[in-house]
Amino acid sequence: MRKIVVIGGVAGGASAAARLRRLDEQAQIVVLERGEHVSFSNCCLPYYLSGTVPTSEALVMMTPKAFQERHNIEVRVNSEAVEILREEKAVLVREAGGREYKESYDKLVLAPGARPVVPRSIRGADAPHVFTVRNVGDVRRLKDHVTLHKVRNVVVAGGGFVGIEVAENLRSAGLEVSLVEGAEQIMAPFDYDMVQILHKELIDNGVGLYLSSMLTAINGDSVELRRGEETLTLPAQAVVLAVGVAPETELASKAGLELGSRGIKVDHNYRTTDPDIYAVGDAVEYFDRMNRRSGALALAGPAQRQARAAADHICGKFSGNRGYIGSSCLRVFAQNAACTGMNEKAAKAAGIPCEVAYVLPADKVGIMPESHYMAFKLIFEVPTGRILGAQAIGKGDAVRRIDVIATLITMNGTLEDLKELELCYSPVYGTAKDVVNMAALVGLNLLNGEYEQVRLDQVRALVESGAYIVDVREKAEYDAGHLKNAVNIPLSQFRERLAEVPRDVPVYLHCRTSQRSYYALCQLRGNGYRNVKNISGSFLGVCLYEYYNDQTQGRTPIVTAYNFK
Ligand code: FAD
Repeated sequence: MRKIVVIGGVAGGASAAARLRRLDEQAQIVVLERGEHVSFSNCCLPYYLSGTVPTSEALVMMTPKAFQERHNIEVRVNSEAVEILREEKAVLVREAGGREYKESYDKLVLAPGARPVVPRSIRGADAPHVFTVRNVGDVRRLKDHVTLHKVRNVVVAGGGFVGIEVAENLRSAGLEVSLVEGAEQIMAPFDYDMVQILHKELIDNGVGLYLSSMLTAINGDSVELRRGEETLTLPAQAVVLAVGVAPETELASKAGLELGSRGIKVDHNYRTTDPDIYAVGDAVEYFDRMNRRSGALALAGPAQRQARAAADHICGKFSGNRGYIGSSCLRVFAQNAACTGMNEKAAKAAGIPCEVAYVLPADKVGIMPESHYMAFKLIFEVPTGRILGAQAIGKGDAVRRIDVIATLITMNGTLEDLKELELCYSPVYGTAKDVVNMAALVGLNLLNGEYEQVRLDQVRALVESGAYIVDVREKAEYDAGHLKNAVNIPLSQFRERLAEVPRDVPVYLHCRTSQRSYYALCQLRGNGYRNVKNISGSFLGVCLYEYYNDQTQGRTPIVTAYNFK
């Protein structure tokens, strides 16, 4: 009977152990977990802070007892693997009480995950009211502190998934929350234009958002930030650091296993440089399929897939390794946000010639209740039309749309494939031509040179330079708020008023979401106009793009009034 030892008992470790048992009924399987729990839901941790998950016990999915009874897997919590003795094929284990012993193995699986980064440069980062969020104990301590000390103000440092989820849940619990992010935007997987919607959502829900700001010091009941040359002080009786994670590679490194630049080096089957030792999850370097190089990815789905592949290989089964494209999602108050593959920034940095289709269609038939716009950005390669990535944000089902694109990317799909994709439709769920089909059609128009577009980040300069902009929405829509300087010629009157449109200057068209302005553009082109461009995203897109910076920088809006409907 062979013996398999797994180090780490959460996403990767627990999945590997369970798969091993399914494949090998005879093996002795031992899981060593440093913490007090195995198999808890990391991803649900922030939701305990708002009470969405009512108790911390509910975060724990399986107990050691259940593992033993259901799967005949021996799980030892409070048991840290402190050294791998490769010569002896054994692990040195230290129990919480200090007792040490050796555990032999035939095969070893490392799934130690990644630990939250605590920057030494932040003065006071080791104070008792400073927290990180990785496990059940962490959120319990944070919530207990907030309750016990009647905390009013919390500062969360880091605008990634964990920081935002923690900020949202603390805010939902009624606290005054400030979110501090060093970059000029939150959520790096999204492009700057898309993420403005999330910036707006955060401030609209009362979260103080401090971008391009570095947390430098934590005092008793305040923090200090540096923003450019300014130093700001914010009240804070609790601070959460969510500024990133670092793979736990120390055990592997001490054992002489090779490390890559992003984590433990593994082969096609998640085997380390020792053929009897495998590694999976946040601690390993994975194959970034988009950039065709190694990368790091701290996501639960990939950890579980890797765990399955490693277990399969241990049991003599072989699975393919296609690498990872990076699909992720989160909710920010009422907005659902999801993305996959490359963003525009990454595609450009990789030197891939690309173009972008940005659409804002209704996510359900307009007359249905709960129909909302969905902002959808599709990035594709030029001239092949190969889909590189997408981002979706809206109150509706952004995740479903991105899952479609993730599937296509995995299968090397193109705009043509996306256009032809036959998706489910009922007005309750969507529109006959879904958001993703619509993006493909716009993308194909751009690829085929049917028309030129102006991007949202160019509109301010156009307005300020007095460019000739035609707003083809109906008069009532125009009156409710429009681009300063824009001329209103509603689409319903466009043919009869064509002569008003000059031929000797560039003409920039927009409506609410660029659908009606595309009709106007076709009319102009059909009448011999050549220098005509469509403003991608149109008035709704401009309002969403401009709002946050207008509000926080005190700059003059380029619209007479915002309209987010
Ligand atoms: P982990 O799940 O972290 O497990 C590693 C375990 O190994 C830890 O419990 C640790 O105590 C133990 N360990 C480490 N070293 C030793 C040792 N020497 N001896 C014994 N035990 C050891 N991903 C998503 O895809 N979607 C989400 O919505 C999402 N939300 C998240 C929210 C939060 C708050 C956090 C923290 C993470 C979230 N993630 C999410 C990321 C996801 O949880 C991780 O990518 C995933 O858990 C990684 O699995 P892993 O097995 O590699 O590491």
